[in-house]
Amino acid sequence: MALSYRMLQIGGQPAGLLGLEELFSALYEEGLTPTQPEIKERLLNGVRQNNFIPKPAVQDYSNALMLEYQRYYQRRRTGKAIVARNYGTWRGYPREQIPWFPTISDDLCNNCGACLDLCAREVFERDENGKIWVAEPFLCMVGCCFCKSVCEPKAILMPGQELLKNYPEKMR
Ligand code: SF4
Ligand code: SF4
Repeated sequence: MALSYRMLQIGGQPAGLLGLEELFSALYEEGLTPTQPEIKERLLNGVRQNNFIPKPAVQDYSNALMLEYQRYYQRRRTGKAIVARNYGTWRGYPREQIPWFPTISDDLCNNCGACLDLCAREVFERDENGKIWVAEPFLCMVGCCFCKSVCEPKAILMPGQELLKNYPEKMR
């Protein structure tokens, strides 16, 4: 069976990774939580099996993978990641290949909920501790930046529009 493929923002740059869903699923089924000390190495080693991680970028990969696994873990726990969702395509590319979605800075976010109230696409959720998180990044509308403008503490980061130049319309 072909491995899954999707894009992540790593150190501010889009990077395509093979086999991420399979890795996350295996770690989850093994019972590894995002707070266990060995998770960092397990994620990096797992990703290395199907991808190349440049040495100077290891810390950026590690941060992005930890965040992503945390997201996956929360979704699985609430039963959402069990049914694989079809996120559709954009300009002919599978939506999961376009790294366009908000990232919340934990240091700046005050959990006011303005982004959650504004976005009609169910990208954000509030967890059981009242914390706002990006639950469904690939439901975000490519090119939209609305939530960023309502976030008073400027906790929401969005990619720059120039990123979209990397995705010219695909010939059908
Ligand atoms: S609008 Fe900004 S500060 Fe408020 S919950 Fe969303 S990210 Fe956090
Ligand atoms: S950029 Fe637009 S679609 Fe995406 S999360 Fe923000 S408000 Fe929702």
